[in-house]
Amino acid sequence: MQVLKFGGTSVGSSKNINKVIAILEANAKQSKVICVVSAVGGITDKLLKAGHLAKDNKKDYKKEYKAIKNKHLAMLSELIPTNETKVADALEEKLKQLKNLLDGIFLINELSHQTSDRLLSFGELLSSFIIAETLKSRAISAVLKNAQELIVTNSNFTKAEVKFEPTNLNIRNYFNTSNKSITIVPGFISKSVNHEITTLGRGGSDYTAAIIAAALHVERLEIWTDVSGMYTTNPKLVKQAYPIKHISYQEAMELSHFGAKVLYPPTVQPVLDLKIPIHIKNTMDPKALGTIISENSHGKSSTATGITNINNIALLTLQGNGMVGVPGFSKRLFETLAQEKINIILITQASSEHSICFGIEVQEANLAEFAINEVFEYEIATKKIDPILVEKELAIIALIGDKMKSHQGISGKMFSTLGKNNINIRAIAQGASERNISAVIAEKDVKKALNTLHESFFESDTKQLNVFITGVGNVGERLVEQIKQQQQYLKKHLKINLRVAGLSNSRTMVFNADGIDLNAWKAELKEGEVATLEGFFKNAKVLNLRNSVFVDVTANEAVSKLYAKYLKESIAVVACNKIACSSTYENYVKLKALSLEYNAPFLFETNVGAGLPIIDTLSNLMASGDKITSIQAVLSREFKLCF
Ligand code: ASP
Ligand code: MG
Repeated sequence: MQVLKFGGTSVGSSKNINKVIAILEANAKQSKVICVVSAVGGITDKLLKAGHLAKDNKKDYKKEYKAIKNKHLAMLSELIPTNETKVADALEEKLKQLKNLLDGIFLINELSHQTSDRLLSFGELLSSFIIAETLKSRAISAVLKNAQELIVTNSNFTKAEVKFEPTNLNIRNYFNTSNKSITIVPGFISKSVNHEITTLGRGGSDYTAAIIAAALHVERLEIWTDVSGMYTTNPKLVKQAYPIKHISYQEAMELSHFGAKVLYPPTVQPVLDLKIPIHIKNTMDPKALGTIISENSHGKSSTATGITNINNIALLTLQGNGMVGVPGFSKRLFETLAQEKINIILITQASSEHSICFGIEVQEANLAEFAINEVFEYEIATKKIDPILVEKELAIIALIGDKMKSHQGISGKMFSTLGKNNINIRAIAQGASERNISAVIAEKDVKKALNTLHESFFESDTKQLNVFITGVGNVGERLVEQIKQQQQYLKKHLKINLRVAGLSNSRTMVFNADGIDLNAWKAELKEGEVATLEGFFKNAKVLNLRNSVFVDVTANEAVSKLYAKYLKESIAVVACNKIACSSTYENYVKLKALSLEYNAPFLFETNVGAGLPIIDTLSNLMASGDKITSIQAVLSREFKLCF
């Protein structure tokens, strides 16, 4: 027996349902299939919205209802195009019941939790009905089994608790005697011991599937969704992210706690208890391997498994000398937060005990600030502590992996990678499980942080460089052409992914975070915005790309005056412009010092000897212990620099 669960997008259109059916048919060749389905994507939200509109006496609930009705009728007629009036009638009948319920809510202006469950149950009832009827109409041996006859709960409406004994018995009795090759089961819905309609809480279809899989001790639970598994990091922000083949339960929990909403931890507890593996698969790309989540992550070599982020974080700091060595402060602090039902996402306290710092969702920051200042009113008034400090526009990024605990140097690598890219870290937390290292950073840095961490932990063999070139006149044009010509070679042989992210001449400038197309750069530059030196700098800064390099191919003094600004953003500077290095010695020393301080190379090889390798050779000689005692040179007339 196999248990497959399909989410809202997988059953969200007739086209996708046909894909689901193809998968079911293929799987049914091996053994009996139990298919748990969600409501059609977005329908649960729509039902809820209609319910609230009706309760608030707003006639617009009818519009929502119409949309729900039309969506389902259209899907049915696309899936079963022949004149199956009986099926269409049955669907209309169900929709009518939904309409009656909404009308009732409208009349009595009331939407209790119990009624809400009844209302939401329509989502899964409708989707499962359509899928089962489609299978039958194609002469596939299939049956619909209402989960309400299987899953028994208490009467905790909107998030009922499962009574496992009768539930497991129902499931075993039913499936061990059923002879249909495919059984469609609506997820999420259940019935209380008193026969009331209940639901298992939002996202509860996974839970239904896990309960059935565990009751039947199946070999694995397949969760079919619209992505090819759990990714090393958010693929929307990091193009190089890829699906993780194997991951442990613990790692999956850590990852899904953050961004990767593929799996909601409490819902898979039943299979986790029995160590039944979960296979995440993609309905839109069934051939993709997906991710297998199991007891251990099968000895992969890499130390980190994934990187994840939570945005919209506020960091709150309680500090003051009056806290040092006095027990009870944190108790009062966290009690206050608990009373206000504010969830804490991250906590750190330095051993100096001078401050406690914690991260919460930004929406709750004002409430937390108010409540804490009130509770500590006396201590604040007597200057034992400061009023709580609230900082917003922050995010948490976290590196996840079971194996991190047996490796040293991981956090070192993480923080030096971030540091090199000028990403400031506001707070750090690592639990003793060492499975997760979290850092709080500015929200605007998240994309860069994920990219650069991904590069250093998952793409060790390639490095991306983002080049901003100013002064594409004669020489600059040759440089761009040379880059274009060498791009493939550099990637293949030196593992450098060299991209031109910004270009400017004296008139216009263009930028592209994904790299400018070097076959069309001239046309693009012509259409670009009006060039200013400040504007070029600002764009490079705001794009905030990892390993950024500013290249100055001008002979312009004003450009050379901006090097310090670039270096202070950890953007490397490469100059064939000689003005900075041949200006005052103090200026040269200052730039070298900034380069060191911000970990951003400052290179100017072509400043001396028109590109002959003099500077680099000299540096190498010095690095290997040689001392320069004198330099003799025949210098050109316009270049009167002496060593
Ligand atoms: N339809 C329910 C929801 O959207 C359950 C689920 O999809 O898992 O929350
Ligand atoms: Mg859903």
